[in-house]
Amino acid sequence: MAGMTRPLLNRRLDGFGTTIFAEMSALATRTGSVNLGQGFPDTDGPEEVREAAVRALRDGRGNQYPPGPGIPELRTAISDHQRRFYDLSFDPDTEILVTAGATEAIAASMLALLEPGDEVIAFEPFYDSYAACIAMTGAKRVPLTLRAPSFRPDLEELRALINSKTRLLLLNSPHNPTGMVLTAEELRVIAALAIEYDVLVVTDEVYEHVVFEGSHHPIAALPGMRERTISLSSAGKTFSFTGWKVGWAMADAPLITAVRTAKQYLTYVSAGPFQYAVAEALRLPDAYFAEFRAGLRRKRDLLDEGLRGAGFEVYEPQGTYFITTDIAPFGEKDAYAFCRSLPERCGVVAVPNSVFYDDPDVGHSQVRFTFCKKEDVLQEAAARLQRLRA
Ligand code: PMP
Ligand code: GLN
Repeated sequence: MAGMTRPLLNRRLDGFGTTIFAEMSALATRTGSVNLGQGFPDTDGPEEVREAAVRALRDGRGNQYPPGPGIPELRTAISDHQRRFYDLSFDPDTEILVTAGATEAIAASMLALLEPGDEVIAFEPFYDSYAACIAMTGAKRVPLTLRAPSFRPDLEELRALINSKTRLLLLNSPHNPTGMVLTAEELRVIAALAIEYDVLVVTDEVYEHVVFEGSHHPIAALPGMRERTISLSSAGKTFSFTGWKVGWAMADAPLITAVRTAKQYLTYVSAGPFQYAVAEALRLPDAYFAEFRAGLRRKRDLLDEGLRGAGFEVYEPQGTYFITTDIAPFGEKDAYAFCRSLPERCGVVAVPNSVFYDDPDVGHSQVRFTFCKKEDVLQEAAARLQRLRA
């Protein structure tokens, strides 16, 4: 066939196939299993936020292309949210960009900032889209490996990894999949390195409101960091509307201008009516955020206990709605094979962390379970997993 003599897929995307989340969700559907794989809640977010979306839709707000940077109401609400929680100030007109989820903010940031040959240091295990987006630009990902049981980054190793090709540090705290949350002291050291070596920082903070131990600290708030940091977040996790795909980037105007340049040619704009609803969600009272976190802490404890009871080695997360485990106690080593067989063995789906590592040996036997599900669903999953003991 004409034009088919070379491989269809751009070489840079070799090996990226189907995302593990899609693969495992399809497996859950096919087998009728309890899906603790892909991280999406089985209960929608607040009713008043859902109603706000319906109202916007009915009133004809956002049904046509919204403004490129996002509707002003949402940009102002994002700015107010950053001031309210972190005492950070961003100009809604020039320093905030609304995106199609954090996913597009990640892609646009990478496309805007990276040239082929640049190096990007990111925590390994990598959230899947980081590796793919870096690859699409022709830049190179450089892993800073987080090792069990604590998954704390080795900051001396970070210093050793930085070199003249390093363009940016791609941070993620709270960290998916390990649940590691960077401490204020770690952030201080990372910030000092970024300044000393003059590198940019892109920080993915989508789990900012899901921290169980201590609290979330945005690196942008540290001295000297505002002008070199792009902070990313999203409504999906905080308000339990992962399907709406409303995310945002916040940074100094020149950085946001760069990201917007790329973003314009990806989706241009998205999620018109949902932007109005998220603007209202960001103004929910403190009690909403406290209850959201407390509810997830209970679910974490429930699943943690269930997984231990079933025989897993469990690494308790400080944040996110994921628990990473190790299957070594079952005498098994291959997380991917384990996850593929789990529906048949127990009727449960999980995600193999092994696919998030460049070094196949390090995370080979790690398996991630999400706990953003109803308590009876978590109990049912725990009961089913007891079969592994047999
Ligand atoms: N970053 C991390 C660490 C995530 O876990 C996710 C999944 N929500 C995303 C980014 C993507 O967020 P969104 O759904 O808003 O695109
Ligand atoms: N962030 C979700 C997770 O980690 C998945 C989102 C997606 O499927 N891209 O499970």
